[in-house]
Amino acid sequence: MRIAALVGALLAVPVFLGLSGVDPVPVLVLMGLLAVVVSMPQVRGAAQRVGERRHAPAIPEVAFDDIGGQSRAKKELMEGLEFLAQEARARRLGIRPLRGILLAGPPGTGKTLLAKAAAHYTRSAFVACAGSEFVEMYAGVGAQRVREVFDRARRLARQAGHGSTIVFLDEIEVLGGKRGAHHSHMEYDQTLNQLLIEMDGIGSGDDARVLVVGATNRPDLLDDALLRPGRFDRVVRVDLPDREDRFQILRVHTRNKPLAEGVDLMRVARETFGFSGAHLESLANEAAILAMRASAPVVEERFFLEAIDKVMLGDRLDRRPTSAELRRIAVHETGHALVGEVYRPGSVATLTITPRGQTLGYVRRAPADDVLIETRADLLADIAVALAGGLAEEILLDGRSTGAAQDLEQALAAARRIVLVGMSPLGVVDEELVPREALHRAVGEILAEVEAQVRAVLLSHRERILEVAERLMTEERMDGQALRAALGLGGGRGLRVS
Ligand code: ATP
Repeated sequence: MRIAALVGALLAVPVFLGLSGVDPVPVLVLMGLLAVVVSMPQVRGAAQRVGERRHAPAIPEVAFDDIGGQSRAKKELMEGLEFLAQEARARRLGIRPLRGILLAGPPGTGKTLLAKAAAHYTRSAFVACAGSEFVEMYAGVGAQRVREVFDRARRLARQAGHGSTIVFLDEIEVLGGKRGAHHSHMEYDQTLNQLLIEMDGIGSGDDARVLVVGATNRPDLLDDALLRPGRFDRVVRVDLPDREDRFQILRVHTRNKPLAEGVDLMRVARETFGFSGAHLESLANEAAILAMRASAPVVEERFFLEAIDKVMLGDRLDRRPTSAELRRIAVHETGHALVGEVYRPGSVATLTITPRGQTLGYVRRAPADDVLIETRADLLADIAVALAGGLAEEILLDGRSTGAAQDLEQALAAARRIVLVGMSPLGVVDEELVPREALHRAVGEILAEVEAQVRAVLLSHRERILEVAERLMTEERMDGQALRAALGLGGGRGLRVS
């Protein structure tokens, strides 16, 4: 609008001069010259910079307090940021400025949030881009983009109010993958080289403070040159949250939701083993949606529990299984659940035969604590639970079905693991050197031994399994407590393998 008004006013000048009898040609020539100068790239760039100053990007609003859990990652990141926050002191002490911090961890664990919080904490401007934005078919374009990003970051850092800029490079493995590994490697290599050049230039006699925060879930793919001292000096692991962290994340995402009295978020945290922060955010949102659908004024615990299943398995399938299929699924799942309770009393959280996503029924087990290492007994229990579904079908129905295929894969994987970590009669083995038949035999023996035990358990509980399966067919879903009551197991007292 303003530009149109200005052009209009400028055009009016020669018209006015012409009407007043003054020769407008010299004025027109002067205006033409002015237009050429203004359209020159350097001048346009300067004008743009002025524009940027007016529309300086806000410092991100996300603070470290808005990130649930991740206390170790936050601490390590904040230590790294001290160099930025106290740059003058660091310089006096002759400390080379930190140029890059790499956040490595699975998707949805809060890496972007951490980078934003880092900018908030250091009052830095924030420039974010993803590795894929630099990937181009044409040689040199990626490198040019890298240059532009860093030029922009330096400009922003110099602007009043921001002493520094954090450049966040998401999916950095796309841009910083090992050189020579791509078909169009020339282009990739040039882009990565440019990033290395830009990073090496940080802090060398430049008043603009720039810190690169990279994020990846595949740090193994990164070119070694990126991880050398002076580039990504620090690698901060951002792991999936454990139970306490899940609780903290749930608290963050329920801050803006009215919760019913007595909602036990710790219980929800316990039942969401393996969920990422992004899953938990979605879970809290789903729970609120369920409350709205039920016209409930507050979000009750049952909505959270229902939302767990939704987030895990996606929406319900349209096709309902036939009653024969349903019966098979019910027997199969009850077999898993019963044996789950035998090996780990009190471990079954939910048992359902409602088809959702790709899964026809499932048993969710809530581990008492998150485990980092597994014993032989743990792995044997996993095998037993995995085998129990198909075996229950075999014992109580007319044979097995394809529904057990995935279970068998799990059982095989666990048995293989036992052998390969030296917990079988073969002793410590070298995976490369152990003969395939010996490996196959050792795995087969483990599976056969567990299968015999599971068969005995199932045979001695035939009636109970059928009763629970019948009930499941009408109720579709049972929680762990109801299951234990139906099996006659209360207070965490488990069955024993005979
Ligand atoms: P990706 O690797 O897929 O890019 P990411 O690790 O960068 O994922 P974010 O984008 O930071 O993950 O997180 C996605 C969303 O998940 C966030 O917007 C937030 O709602 C939620 N979230 C993830 N981790 C946390 C956390 N620790 N605390 C609170 N919310 C979280």
